[in-house]
Amino acid sequence: MTAAETPASDVVLRVEGLYKSFGDTPVLRGIDLEVDQHQVVVAIGASGSGKSTLLKTINLLEQIDDGRIFLKGEDISDPRIDVDRTRARIGVVFQQFNLFPHLSVLDNVTLASRKVHGVPRAEAEATAVQWLERIGLGAKVKDFPDRLSGGQQQRVAIIRAIVTNPELLLLDEITSALDPLLVGEVLDLVTELKAAGSTILMTTHEMHFARTVADHIIFLNDGVLLEQGPPEQVFGDPREEATRQYLARVH
Ligand code: ADP
Ligand code: MG
Repeated sequence: MTAAETPASDVVLRVEGLYKSFGDTPVLRGIDLEVDQHQVVVAIGASGSGKSTLLKTINLLEQIDDGRIFLKGEDISDPRIDVDRTRARIGVVFQQFNLFPHLSVLDNVTLASRKVHGVPRAEAEATAVQWLERIGLGAKVKDFPDRLSGGQQQRVAIIRAIVTNPELLLLDEITSALDPLLVGEVLDLVTELKAAGSTILMTTHEMHFARTVADHIIFLNDGVLLEQGPPEQVFGDPREEATRQYLARVH
């Protein structure tokens, strides 16, 4: 299909009426959300507002109490869903660098494509090396993660998440554990992925970045999606008092 034939509203992720509690504590209280193809949606909100839990429910790492989650129209919150097959369709990067310490950079990047997606080693490695060279880590392919800076490790984790061509990329505070000097190189890679057409739902406390890269901002407040809209509107003219207060605190 050429770009011109692509339907204007090509929904990759649709979340409907999502509820999640931990024990007696409600953490997500009726979340409705859509992410369209090639869109970058950034979730902002105070610590504890439910951002990570939202991403984990989408990746089927947390069970939900009510609501439905659709990936390209398929109800992945259906208990009969194949969890492994569904997870293989979604790329995930968390705050902590989750590279396997005992594997080389190349093996880290190629493991899932070889073992989960059945890509032959030579092909998986060729793709991985192309990407690693593109982000300036071509000389590091044989190194173990502990030889890399935090920013380099996190970029490897992102490459590992995208080499399998996931339909959706979930990025949860991927720069929060980094030395401030290394934040830029990681966020630049996200910008590059956006330009390459990735569909991304991410959380960040980097408001300048969110404003620049996001197509759509969602503000979570105590488990409720309180406000959403284009970045100019949410940052420039927030409708809700809680959004104003949050933005005043993080700016
Ligand atoms: P955020 O990512 O916005 O900081 P989280 O989704 O991590 O928020 O957490 C939302 C709320 O859920 C917090 O009050 C947190 O303490 C609680 N919570 C998160 N994970 C668990 C868990 N596994 N068990 C119990 N409570 C949890
Ligand atoms: Mg979080």
